[in-house]
Amino acid sequence: MRRTRWRAAHVLAHRRGGHALLRDGEVVWEGDTLVYVGPRGGGPARVDEDLDLGESLLMPGLIDLDALTDIDHLVLDSWAPADRAPGLQWSADHFAHGRRDVFTPDERATVREYALAQLALHGVTTYMPIASEVHSAWAEPYDELVRMAETSRRIGLRAYLGPAYRSGVNVTTPDGGRDVAFDEERGRAGLRDAVRFLDHAAALRDPLVTGVLLPCRIETLTEEILRGTAEAAARRDVLVRLHCLQGTTERDLVARLHGTTPLGLLARTGLLGDRLLIPHGLVIDRHPSVHGEDRGDLAALAEAGVSVIHCPQTSLRYGQVLHSFAAYRAAGVTLALGTDSFPPDLIRGMDTGVHLAKLAEGRADAAPAEHYVEAATLGGARALRRPDLGRLEPGARADLVAFRLDDIRDGVQDDPVRTFLLNGTARQATHSAVAGRPVLTDGALPGTDLPGLRRRAQALFEKMRAAYGERDVLRRDAAELFPPTFPPFEETP
Ligand SMILES: [Zn+2]
Repeated sequence: MRRTRWRAAHVLAHRRGGHALLRDGEVVWEGDTLVYVGPRGGGPARVDEDLDLGESLLMPGLIDLDALTDIDHLVLDSWAPADRAPGLQWSADHFAHGRRDVFTPDERATVREYALAQLALHGVTTYMPIASEVHSAWAEPYDELVRMAETSRRIGLRAYLGPAYRSGVNVTTPDGGRDVAFDEERGRAGLRDAVRFLDHAAALRDPLVTGVLLPCRIETLTEEILRGTAEAAARRDVLVRLHCLQGTTERDLVARLHGTTPLGLLARTGLLGDRLLIPHGLVIDRHPSVHGEDRGDLAALAEAGVSVIHCPQTSLRYGQVLHSFAAYRAAGVTLALGTDSFPPDLIRGMDTGVHLAKLAEGRADAAPAEHYVEAATLGGARALRRPDLGRLEPGARADLVAFRLDDIRDGVQDDPVRTFLLNGTARQATHSAVAGRPVLTDGALPGTDLPGLRRRAQALFEKMRAAYGERDVLRRDAAELFPPTFPPFEETP
C-alpha cells in the first residue's frame, strides 16, 4: 500500500484522548489510514511520497457542518435596514404567482463547484452543505444533489449530502409582516426524494459520500414531514440536520402554527435525539430575548445527545451571539462548527467565536482557542458519529490540512494554535488530504479551473442579485434594494 509522509514544524497530534502539540513532527499514512504520528524521524523509514511543510501547522482537516455551498448572499442581506429587510424574502404574491428557479441546472452545478472549491481552499475536509433556497422555485432538486455528489467526489472532499426539503416558505405579507406559505404536496415529494437520495448515496459505495436528511428550517415543515423525517432517520440510521432555535420570529411562528416551542416540537415529532444536528441553536430559554435564564433547555439538549453546529461568523454578522459557548459546553452539548456564509473560513470563525464568547460572558477565558479547535475537529467528528475523524493518531482516517505560518504578516509565533487563530486566516491553507488522497496542493486544486470559476460565479452572482426585485413585496429593483456604500463618482461637466 502506498505510504505518504508529511513533516511540519508544528503538528496538532492526538494522544490519550485529546489533542497534543507536537514540535517538529511527522504524520505517515498508508492508503486512507494514519500509521504514525510522532517526532520527526520516528516513523517508518521507507515512504513513497515525502513532503516537508516547513514552518506550518499540520492539523486534522476542518469539519464544517453548515458549509456554504452557494454563492455569497450575506454580502447582500447582512446590512439591510428595517425597511428593506422584508423585501429580501419572498413576497406572498411571489409565492402564489411568481416562483421560479433563478438558475438553470447547469448554472446550479457551477455554483456548487465554485462553493466546494472554496471549502477545499479554506482547509475544510469534511462538510455538510447549506445553500439558500431563496433563488429556487422550491428547495433542492434530487438531480442537483446527484451532480453535486459527483463534483464533490472529483474534488475529493468528504461529504454528508442530501437534498434540502420543506413544506412551506417564509414570506413577507403585503403589510410587511412574516408568515409561512405552505405547499404540503411539495413537502411530501421532498421527503420522498431525500429518502431516494439515501439509496443513491449508499449505492455509490464511496466512503467520501454519506447520505443524510437535511430538512430546511423548522418553521417551514409540517408536523407530518417532521415526523416522517424522524421515522426515516431511525429506520435508516442516518443523521438529520434541521435549522432551528435560530430566532424569535421562528419561535413566534412555531408557537402560532403548533402551539409549542421549537424544542417542544422537536420532542413531540421524535426528532430530539442523538441523530439530530442543530445549526445555530441560539434561541433557547437562557437567551436574553426568551427568559434570560436557564430553565432546563440545555440539559434537555445534552440529555438527548443533540449536536449544536455553532456558526460564530454568521452569528456576528447578523448581530447575534450564542449564550454561551462555555455554557453549552459545560452542559455536555456536543459543539461542532459551521461556516454557513461566505467566506467559509473556520479560522476566522473560531477567532470570532473566541471573542464573541468574551463579550457574552464578560471574561477573557470564556471560550479559549483550544475549545474552538476541538469543536472544529473532535466536536464535528462526534456529531457525525465518526471517532476516526478529527484527530491525528494511528488508526484514524488520513484527513488533514496544513496552514503556512512563515509569512512576516503572521507576526511572531507563540503557541502555534493561539497565534494562528489570532493573526491568521484559513487562506493560509496550502495542503490537505482526505482519506489519504491529496485535495489541496501548494494552495491550488489540481483539475479545477479557479480563474474560470471566479469569472462564471461573478456572472451568476449578478443574475442572482438582479432577481431579488421580482420577489420583493414592494417590487423594488436591485439598485434600490442594494444601494452602494458611497454615491458613484460623477464627473462634473
Ligand atoms: Zn445556517
